[in-house]
Amino acid sequence: MEKVDTILTGGIVITMNSEFDLHENGAVAIRDHTIVAVGPAADIEAEYQADEINTCEGQYILPGLINAHTHVPMTLLRGLADDLRLDVWLMGYMMPTERQFVNPEFCRLGTRLGCAEMIRSGITAFADMYYYESDVADVTAEIGMRGVLGQTILKFPAPDAQSFEESLERARVFIEEWRDHPLVTPAVAPHAPYSSTKDMLKHCAQLAMQYDVPVLIHISEMKQEEDDSVKNYDMRVTPWVRTTGLLNAKVLAAHCVHINRADMSIFYEHDTTVAHNPTSNLKLASGIAPVTEMLEQKLVVGIGTDGPASNNDLDMFEEIRLAAILAKTEANDPTALPARQALLMATRMGAEALFLGDVTGSLETGKYADLIVVDANTLHNMPHFRRDSQAVYSQLVYAAKSTDVRHVMCHGRWLMRDRELLTVDVTESLEQAREYATRVDDFLIAHENDVLSKLVAVGGLERSESFEVQVKAIIPEAATVHTLLDHPDVEVLRDVHYRQYDTYFLFNDPDMGRVRYREDERVDEKGEVTEVRARLTFTMPEKEREFNSAVLLSHSRFIAPADRPLRFYKEYFQASETFEMEKDRSRWHIHYQGVLYYINVDKMVKPARSETFIEIKSRTWSLEDAEHKADGIRRMMELLGISAQDAVQQEYIDMHRS
Ligand SMILES: [Zn+2]
Repeated sequence: MEKVDTILTGGIVITMNSEFDLHENGAVAIRDHTIVAVGPAADIEAEYQADEINTCEGQYILPGLINAHTHVPMTLLRGLADDLRLDVWLMGYMMPTERQFVNPEFCRLGTRLGCAEMIRSGITAFADMYYYESDVADVTAEIGMRGVLGQTILKFPAPDAQSFEESLERARVFIEEWRDHPLVTPAVAPHAPYSSTKDMLKHCAQLAMQYDVPVLIHISEMKQEEDDSVKNYDMRVTPWVRTTGLLNAKVLAAHCVHINRADMSIFYEHDTTVAHNPTSNLKLASGIAPVTEMLEQKLVVGIGTDGPASNNDLDMFEEIRLAAILAKTEANDPTALPARQALLMATRMGAEALFLGDVTGSLETGKYADLIVVDANTLHNMPHFRRDSQAVYSQLVYAAKSTDVRHVMCHGRWLMRDRELLTVDVTESLEQAREYATRVDDFLIAHENDVLSKLVAVGGLERSESFEVQVKAIIPEAATVHTLLDHPDVEVLRDVHYRQYDTYFLFNDPDMGRVRYREDERVDEKGEVTEVRARLTFTMPEKEREFNSAVLLSHSRFIAPADRPLRFYKEYFQASETFEMEKDRSRWHIHYQGVLYYINVDKMVKPARSETFIEIKSRTWSLEDAEHKADGIRRMMELLGISAQDAVQQEYIDMHRS
């Protein structure tokens, strides 16, 4: 008799091996970290003896589930902001909160809670993408789960790196530190193509290939990504990613909701694997991923919960069930993605998606002992039919719940027995999570009522403050401006013609200030648009003050490029009122007596007005300089024949609203 450490016997053993062997009264023998034998209970008991024998009557013994895509520390942000569009959720809430709160302590706490939740749902291995991934790794290893853990790389500042170069270096150090760990596979995680540059992805590929570690990335999650990619690169997302060389590494692509047949061929060619995230895709209305087609195209597809802040849980049973059901609706075919296939995606194929197919994902001799025992006799799992051997798969996929998971073993170590977590105590962690929630609440409440801080948060923007001296007046016709431009004291440096589209976000409480979203379309002599630029201006609520009769020294403003679509800002700022305006603007940069001024001649198109307006303005930083420039403006007004009474002391928006 050969000695082993543990024997699980008497249960229905679902191996998920390539033959899908089932042993109705089966057993598994385990020594150290590894499965020594799998087969009928009688055979195993005849050949092996162990000090620890676990009788699993009325239970399923199956491989531990593989969560192919998540962001575990986000357990601490679960329920923070829901029922929002992905970009508003991500850029408007998650990223600003993360910039403020995410640090090693946050990641450790979130990972501890996330691992506990995953173990209770029968997960033994997961792919993670987050910040401070070496802290995620520490906790994962200590708790005893298997992880492919990706250090995030972004083109903008992240909680753990100021620049892409710094995050890449952090990834390298992380890989060096963890590359030989039995449980942790370090990985490089560029967040997504839209948050990367071509050069970044090239470097990520080089780093991953140098150490032969996987790359984790979100690809084609939203339709918008495909549209933007075609607009910016004249190429869909996947072919563009291929041009960066990234796909030469071992890539696990999450979501892939909008990939088409050609994209799938590219994935197949490069052995790129996919993580399917049905709940998060549905919740964010990203769409339904064409999973049936991916499988037909022989892609390796795993199933992932995605982060607990977007799902909002880490329950693989829910995810498997939804994957199976959703595929049928997507294909309009109830035979699509049968239960066994869905379970395969969460076990052996999931392990392949994580590039761990050789070591886990099925109950086979030589693989690590990563397994779970599931109660088959709970009320909702009854009764059982034997006519069709496939019934156990549909039982597990369509009826079983994560709460049926009794025991969990990973790497030969029990992580949960009789639903009791053995390697992690969450009592204290839950208390700490409550404290975090209070602090995050306070932060967001303060931020909600402060338009400027919302503006700064959304772009990670620099505040750039400018004061202006300016005058606005009505002139008889546009050509009047030439009496000024042709004057010998004036040198015209530059002239431009724009169509300007402004959207004002106004708030009931005027103390909140106002935000203007402006899109400038530069128009050439032929009337064709040559350049489009969008930016945001925040105006503080203090009243402008009159300065030197009719010339205004304007309130402080903060200006930032608007790199999100207008729709984003509408949903994000949630103004009490929005007001749209369109004008045709001719602009000259001039030197008047050696000082720089801007002259705008404006025709209001929407709402339409018959008058022609002129604005003369200059930037200034000191009161003394302002006085000097205001004098210049007054002299120019005289040249134009404008008296102080002609001056319009209102912004266009106020003209229309009064
Ligand atoms: Zn994700």
